[in-house]
Amino acid sequence: MKKDVIIIGAGASGLVCAAVAARRKRAVLVLEHMKRCAGKIRVSGGGRCNFTNLHAGPENYRSENVHFSRSALSQFGPSDFIALVEQHRIRYREKEDGQLFCEKSSEEIIGMLQQECTEAGAEILLPAHILSVDRKHGFDVLTDRGRFTADSLVVATGGLSYPTLGATGLGYAIAKKFGIGVIPLRPGLVPFEFRQADLMVFGQLSGLSLNATLFCGKRSFTGSILFTHRGISGPAVLQSSLYWNKGESIVIDLLPGTDLREYIISKRPSTMTVANALANFLPRRFVRTLLEPVEASKTLSQLSNKELQVLSERVHTWRLEPKDTEGYQKAEVTLGGIDTHELSSKTMEAKKVPGLFFAGEVIDVTGHLGGFNLQWAWSSGYVAGLHV
Ligand SMILES: Cc1cc2nc3c(=O)[nH]c(=O)nc-3n(C[C@H](O)[C@H](O)[C@H](O)COP(=O)(O)OP(=O)(O)OC[C@H]3O[C@@H](n4cnc5c(N)ncnc54)[C@H](O)[C@@H]3O)c2cc1C
Repeated sequence: MKKDVIIIGAGASGLVCAAVAARRKRAVLVLEHMKRCAGKIRVSGGGRCNFTNLHAGPENYRSENVHFSRSALSQFGPSDFIALVEQHRIRYREKEDGQLFCEKSSEEIIGMLQQECTEAGAEILLPAHILSVDRKHGFDVLTDRGRFTADSLVVATGGLSYPTLGATGLGYAIAKKFGIGVIPLRPGLVPFEFRQADLMVFGQLSGLSLNATLFCGKRSFTGSILFTHRGISGPAVLQSSLYWNKGESIVIDLLPGTDLREYIISKRPSTMTVANALANFLPRRFVRTLLEPVEASKTLSQLSNKELQVLSERVHTWRLEPKDTEGYQKAEVTLGGIDTHELSSKTMEAKKVPGLFFAGEVIDVTGHLGGFNLQWAWSSGYVAGLHV
């Protein structure tokens, strides 16, 4: 069957691309190997889909080429997607820091995108398993549902994370087949696992959360960290994972904005125990784990200046070397991907393979936590849809 455009992947970027291209009167076919579209949108934002961030700009993305996202974000930014959401009368609210969530469910966003595709005349075929992709006169895609050809091919297959939701490495394989570079891949927005020795000490804190600042290389993130039965998670940890390389340490300030040393000195002389002083700021369960019993029962007056210095360093510069991350099974995104130097930032078309486009997470553009990744999927899908 001959089409103008074939899109592989009916996820966030693929569906936007399909609707935009079909509105331009292109004959569009979307091939999806799962039984349902957009598995990741469905689970995103805990089922409420953090669909954009009001502040999305190139500085919120990690890429070998930090300026690459600028053009697509300016062609189709948060306000454009919000206009579409409002047009479909989907109620949403800002949670914090510009993060917009659906009031009811992510299904509304999926329904909106499917409706946009249907009204524009884009066809979605699923489940369809891709057997091969070749280029002769146009692009030739062989599937278990038939052979399809088109002048333009859009690879919108997403990253490697959450294989249970449909993730595969097909997009990277297609890039390699056509001689397009791929920046090394690794899981991002993912919890850290403790080394055995730390797990023995902190594993018992599973379920406990506290506010902290994490320093990872030159970056720092302040927010909640959550102790799990394997390591640490929570927004500040997930953000740090975007900048962490295996073997590196992270430094954690458990009392951001407070100088423990100054606080204790200001309370002296005092019969308050060290444990009670720390419990003014930190959960008691955590304090019990952090302090030796002898240290915990000392009064603030009994604590020597040297001991105070050591305690203050432990609280403000807790150095942790994670064993690893929890991997693609638990990662929200995949870092790395199609080398942006190989693509036009205005159209997402491959420079050396006319007609071949990439959109979304498969490209080496990874957003911070907070609606930035879906916004990148909408923006890159939109510009590809305008040019296929
Ligand atoms: C648990 C979780 C929560 C998240 N929450 C948020 C959030 O709240 N806000 C946010 O901004 N981002 C969030 N993200 C990230 C966001 O969902 C992704 O970055 C975004 O969906 C990427 O869009 P995409 O179109 O590139 O890929 P996807 O949306 O993943 O779509 C890719 C599609 O391609 C299909 N596909 C893959 N391989 C093949 C193949 N071989 N043949 C045919 N089809 C194939 C897949 O089945 C899928 O339907 C979350 C991710 C996860 C895992």
